[in-house]
Amino acid sequence: MPRVEKEEIIRALRSKGLRVTPQRFAVYANLLARRDHPTAEQILKQLNQEVPTLSQATVYLTLQTLSEVGLIREVLLEQGVCRYDANMAPHHHFVCTSCGQIIDIPWDCLGPINLSSLPSGFQVERYEVTLYGKCNQCGDREERSQT
Ligand SMILES: [Zn+2]
Ligand SMILES: [Zn+2]
Repeated sequence: MPRVEKEEIIRALRSKGLRVTPQRFAVYANLLARRDHPTAEQILKQLNQEVPTLSQATVYLTLQTLSEVGLIREVLLEQGVCRYDANMAPHHHFVCTSCGQIIDIPWDCLGPINLSSLPSGFQVERYEVTLYGKCNQCGDREERSQT
């Protein structure tokens, strides 16, 4: 891991008033390095490949702490499955119905949505859009098999 990145992670943890523990560092660094919206189990599995020291409880607790202070967020796209995302910039998600990949879609990709026809009295605080379909890899594969 590049040195600058390491310092940035430490700075980010401290800026939220968190003590920098090896567990917090490892979990946050892992999540920052990937864009696949892993579950706690997937994070645990990958981290323990390197140094098998983290327990499942520690990973869950660490993810909870990081999400409480707003460094990461929970992504709930499937019922009962909690995934995590260190990309805190507003963005949408694309879910591939074929391979199950969840891909970040830049906020600007979709135009502003029209909220004026909502039933009266509803106030929107935030929203994000989940698109479902085939990712570029799965779409290509399907096209090839059809020809
Ligand atoms: Zn796919
Ligand atoms: Zn995301």
